[in-house]
Amino acid sequence: MNTCIFCDIVAKKIPSDIVFEDDVVLAFLDIHPTNPGHTLVVPKQHVATMAEASSELASALAARLPRLTRAVQAASKADGYNVNNNNGTAAGQVVSHLHLHIIPRFSNDGYQAWGHRSYADGEAAQVAAAIREALA
Ligand code: 5GP
Ligand code: ZN
Repeated sequence: MNTCIFCDIVAKKIPSDIVFEDDVVLAFLDIHPTNPGHTLVVPKQHVATMAEASSELASALAARLPRLTRAVQAASKADGYNVNNNNGTAAGQVVSHLHLHIIPRFSNDGYQAWGHRSYADGEAAQVAAAIREALA
């Protein structure tokens, strides 16, 4: 049985405020917006995370972003926007269907995205080597 809420939204079994749809993606308003206009872009195909997406699917998602971000920023009269993608519970992913957030941002709206750490001596080289090894 399909229990994915975003699959149900894609299938129109659950209503949403749709702003864009084509053969690959659906974009609709987040029900609990960070700021008005906060939009979710989801692939119609169910994959849980970015790591599970094919290159083609990831490319298709990315290709739609310039037009969607322009529209969200213009319509919300925002000063800027974040494109965000949470993967895994530890990263704040609540809905396990890949989605991109387009979040309108306003000067001094008070939201802070990330903290900023520093690397210890030699740590960055080790971390970069581990990522290169994982890519090999
Ligand atoms: P995540 O934390 O998984 O990256 O983000 C999931 C987002 O989906 C949340 O911001 C949440 O407000 C939104 N959301 C959850 N359920 C629904 C729903 O039924 N309809 C809509 N439009 N958004 C939802
Ligand atoms: Zn799904």
